[in-house]
This record gives sequence, structure tokens and C-alpha cells, in this order.
Amino acid sequence: MANRHRVVILGAGFGGLYAAKALKHAPVHVTVIDRRNYHLFQPLLYQVATGSLSPGEIAAPIRGILAKQKNTRVLLDEAVDIDPTGKTVVLHDERIAYDSLIIATGSKGSYFGHDAWSKYAPPVKGIENATTIRHKLLFAFESAERISDPAERQAWLTFVIVGAGATGVELAGALGEIAHHTLKDDFRSIDPRTAKILVLDSAKRILSTFPEDLSRHAKKSLEKLGATIRTEVLVTNVDENGVTVKTPTGEEHISSHTVIWAAGVTASDFGRQLAKRTGAQTEKGGRIVVDQSLTIPGYPDIFVVGDMAYSTDSKGKPLPGVAQVAMQGGAYAAKTIVKRVKGDRNIRPFDYFDKGDLAVIGRGSAVANIFGLHLWGLPAWLVWLFVHLMYIVEFQSRILVFIQWGFLYLTANRGAMLITWGTEAKQPEDQVALASASTSSKPQSS
Ligand SMILES: Cc1cc2nc3c(=O)[nH]c(=O)nc-3n(C[C@H](O)[C@H](O)[C@H](O)COP(=O)(O)OP(=O)(O)OC[C@H]3O[C@@H](n4cnc5c(N)ncnc54)[C@H](O)[C@@H]3O)c2cc1C
Repeated sequence: MANRHRVVILGAGFGGLYAAKALKHAPVHVTVIDRRNYHLFQPLLYQVATGSLSPGEIAAPIRGILAKQKNTRVLLDEAVDIDPTGKTVVLHDERIAYDSLIIATGSKGSYFGHDAWSKYAPPVKGIENATTIRHKLLFAFESAERISDPAERQAWLTFVIVGAGATGVELAGALGEIAHHTLKDDFRSIDPRTAKILVLDSAKRILSTFPEDLSRHAKKSLEKLGATIRTEVLVTNVDENGVTVKTPTGEEHISSHTVIWAAGVTASDFGRQLAKRTGAQTEKGGRIVVDQSLTIPGYPDIFVVGDMAYSTDSKGKPLPGVAQVAMQGGAYAAKTIVKRVKGDRNIRPFDYFDKGDLAVIGRGSAVANIFGLHLWGLPAWLVWLFVHLMYIVEFQSRILVFIQWGFLYLTANRGAMLITWGTEAKQPEDQVALASASTSSKPQSS
């Protein structure tokens, strides 16, 4: 093993994990480094945020996934710098030398220069934020139940989702299900079905990367679940009292204590350091511009894949930040390294195979654009179900998720509707908002 080619992989999300797996039988020594000890299945994060799945059902320890891969070791640490000339990655605790490097450190929520908004509008990114969102959603219903002032009660029952891409749409659909089905009989002073669910986007239509007909079907399904879609509105401020938006007819304030950010991502922090050290170009979202081999120009041993990379297809169209691009990119980088190690010069450029897009809206409702075939309603939902179960990494999680979904489909009940902070440990912004509200109101008895 001592003289083997050293492959270092930063990040064990979709890109990093699929790269590591593709190296299972390769004559190389692999080191996978992630700042978390688990791989996260992000496409189902909104289900944690809305209480249908628990964090453990969509995350699996990286060490466990790669346990049987004898040429691979896993380190829990964060990459903070890189020396591309000396071919070393700097971690908090040590420096790691590489012969080939695959960078797959993903992305983070972007507030388009208004990071202060994140305090009031958490992004749908990472387990911690998903449980924060779950807390905020459930806490809002609890607060509304105890407040008699109609305007303040309405502010607690108004849920604003910023961003009408797949994540915003999926979240709005799940929230509609919660308000209209899961919680409908659970309260005495309020009717959860009166909750306002607003989905805001600056684009002309929701799911703007989907074909227009599917976008229309998705809008109809969301409206059936009580959501209101507002397109061509630009958020200009977010604070503890709600959001201010600029619309074609002027400025407007929407009172709400529950705002969720599902708009836009930017490259993870490591990207900045990488660009500085290598002189790599970045696009406006901070992604590293790579060549057709997914490497940084001038650094053929540094691959960048997934959400961190800006790459284009053969027609020059930018590839989207989706799991398929990351998985295929990771596997491509791994195979290219193996070919080089074996002296095979027949290396082709990366060629992304687009299998299509999916977004789920509620129980038995989704839209799907699969190999150019447009599906909606139950058929699309069945495709969505199959695809997501297929790609969940651990077999055990797959079974658990399947059971939870079966239960949810039949009963509309969600198994993880928990406020885990407790009432004495509310989040600061909730305390502020509830304190100012409760001066004008008294809890009602049931
Ligand atoms: C809520 C949500 C829903 C989504 N839904 C879909 C969907 O339905 N379909 C779809 O195709 N795509 C979806 N996506 C997009 C998809 O999840 C991403 O495109 C994909 O995860 C990108 O893979 P990646 O490997 O580049 O990054 P990630 O999967 O984000 O993994 C990055 C990894 O790098 C680690 N890391 C970051 N910085 C460092 C560092 N400095 N040092 C060490 N480790 C580090 C992180 O801990 C993480 O494990 C969704 C994304 C989100 C957030």
C-alpha cells in the first residue's frame, strides 16, 4: 500500500461518496475527509423539516458506508486551505498529501448579499437547519393557539417560503398537507386549515427549470393544498416581523413569524480558498470553473465536482446543481484517475447524462420530466417514490423510509412532529416575537 497513488476526496456528499465508491477495487489509497461524520440525502431534507422523517432516516455514517472498502480511510475534519504546488490539503488537525484530489464540498444557502436575513429565514440546508425549520413550523401553530389578537394570530399562521424551485415547492406542499390533514383536528382555538402558505419567487413561474406544462400542474396542485403562489416578487427585507417584497405594483409588507429560505445557493466556503490558491475562475455563485475533464485549468490533478463546480454540457449549457451531476461527476473523476494510474491515455471529456427532473407536491402528487416524458399526479409520484428509495444509501434507511411513507400515505400522520428544544429553550427570535405578541393577548382555554 505504501507506494500506491494517493487519492484524497474532500466531502462525502453525493459527489465525494460516488467517487470513493468508484475507487473500491482500484489500486490506489483513498482518504475521504468530511467535516460531518455522515452522508446526507439532501433531497429528503424537507421531509425532516416537515416532520415526516427523522434525521437518522436520511443520513448515514460515512465510516459505516465505506467500512468494507479496504483501500479507503475516513477522516472527520474540515479542509481549510490547500497548497496546490506542494500537493497538500490543510485540515484543522493535520496536512494531508495527495497525488490526485477530488473536491466535492458542495454548496450553502445564499442570501444574495443579505446574510443577516438567515437569522429569521433559515435555509433548507443541513440537518440542523431542517430541525430548526421543523421547530419554527410547529411552534407557530402552538403560538397561534394561545394568542387572541387576530392580526398577531394571523402572523403566526402565515408561512412564507422564499423560492419556488423544487425545494420551495416540496416544502409548500408538505406544509399544505400538515395544515389541511395532519393537524386539522389537533387544536381548539385555531383551525390549522386557515394557515396562509405563501410561496414567493422573482421568476415568472414556479419550477422554472421544468417544462411549462409541469410548472402549471404543480401550481394547481399546490393551490389545492391551500398554498398561494406569488411570482415576479422580489424580497427586499426579512426580519422578525415578516418580509418586505417589491412587486410590479409597489412595495408590500407580509406579516409572518415563519419565513423559510429556499432560494439560491452559493459554493461552500472552501471554494474561496481554492480559487485564491489556484487562481481558478469563479462564476457569480462562487462555483469553480472547471474544464471538460472537471479539473482546474493548469492543475490536472485537482478535480472539482458537484455543487462546487461550474461545468457545461457539450452545447455549452451550464450543468445544474443536482445530485445526478454530482454523482456522475464524482464517478467520472475516480475513473479518470484510475485510467491515468494504469497509463491508459484514452480519457474522454465528462459527458453528463440528464435523466430528468422530479418534484413532489403532496401525497400522491408530483411532477416528473423523465427522459423527455412529462408526468404529473399519481404516476409522477410513483416514479418519485421509486427513484428516491433507490438512491437512499443504506438498505436499512430505505426500508424505514418506505414504512414511514406508507404510513403517511394512508393516514396523513407524520411520525416526527417534535419540538425538540422545549418551551423553556425557544429560539431567540421566537421569544422576541412571542413576547411582543403576548402583551396584547391571553391564552384561551379550550
Ligand atoms: C433541500 C435540498 C433539496 C434538494 N433536492 C434535490 C432533488 O430532489 N434532486 C436532486 O437531484 N438534487 C437535489 N438537491 C441538490 C443536491 O442535493 C446537490 O446537488 C448535491 O447534494 C450536491 O452534491 P455535492 O457532493 O456537490 O455536495 P453535498 O452533497 O452538499 O456534499 C458536500 C459535503 O462536503 C462536506 N464539506 C463541506 N465543506 C467541507 C470542508 N471544507 N471540509 C470537509 N468537508 C466539507 C459537507 O459536510 C458535505 O458532506 C437538493 C438540495 C437541497 C439542499
